[in-house]
Amino acid sequence: MSASCQIGFDVGGTSLKAALVAEGQILETVSAETPVEQSQAEAVAVMADLIEQLKKAAAQRDLHVTGVGMGIAGLVDYTRGYVITAPNLPNWKDFSLAEQLSAKVGLGVKLDNDVRAMAMGELAYGAGRGARHMLCLTVGTGVGSAIIINGEIYRGASLTAGEFGHVMVIAEGGRSCGCGNRGCLETVAGTEAILSLGRRYLERGLAPVLAEKLTQNGGQLTPKLIAEAALAGDMGCVSLWNEIGHWLGIALAGAVNFINPEQIVIGGGIAQAGALLFDPIQRVIQFHAFERPAQAVKLMPAALGAEAGMIGAAALAQQA
Ligand SMILES: [Zn+2]
Repeated sequence: MSASCQIGFDVGGTSLKAALVAEGQILETVSAETPVEQSQAEAVAVMADLIEQLKKAAAQRDLHVTGVGMGIAGLVDYTRGYVITAPNLPNWKDFSLAEQLSAKVGLGVKLDNDVRAMAMGELAYGAGRGARHMLCLTVGTGVGSAIIINGEIYRGASLTAGEFGHVMVIAEGGRSCGCGNRGCLETVAGTEAILSLGRRYLERGLAPVLAEKLTQNGGQLTPKLIAEAALAGDMGCVSLWNEIGHWLGIALAGAVNFINPEQIVIGGGIAQAGALLFDPIQRVIQFHAFERPAQAVKLMPAALGAEAGMIGAAALAQQA
């Protein structure tokens, strides 16, 4: 009997990536443009085609594919394998994706949202290995999270648990958020907030190293560039990461009191800022959370990087 492996999909707004995964190791990857404009049936066909390619690759390695898992940026009904809504994929509204795809490829298909898939990957094979109680945060354009309690994903009564980016951190006068509220964590710690803060430092002449790097980079401001400038000694950029860390720390201190996690794993583009970001978060947690849970929690960067989504989706495929 041949050894088993799974297929993990990372469904983003622009690209559809899928990998053949065995024991948390990626053996082969394939990708396609995300079928944004196409009908649901056409989208299923695109995914089925990627699965067939990976099944062939598995056969060549004498491996047997036991299932398919998918992480999707959107509201997903895990129990029914159903996409309720996906903001970047309007045609995927009310999409019985698992059922349709499973009928086409003859494999079981499991779906969950992208952050939970990433958390599954980190929990099984990455920074969260062995953790029982963990909070997994991704900071990008949006700020998302997944909550692990007793080694399992906590999804909530109507599957929306983990909307950490919309925890309110500024009670009055906060910037308006995409969700319709004001003062959400996302408005002060997401990529847009980081870039607008960077621009402000530049305009006031407070980030000279960043200004130099920006010219070399063709004027393209990114969180990565701001992290590099801070590492090269730009005090403006160091203070920028302190501010971002402050806001994340405020929200996380609440989560530490509330959930008492052993680990907080932070992923997404800004994890590259490393200690510049993690130190202020740690300080704010130590300062604001109760002593006992604050001492119990370890803050760590995600270990699986951009592959966490596919590895985690493959781990999802193994769930009963
Ligand atoms: Zn919001």
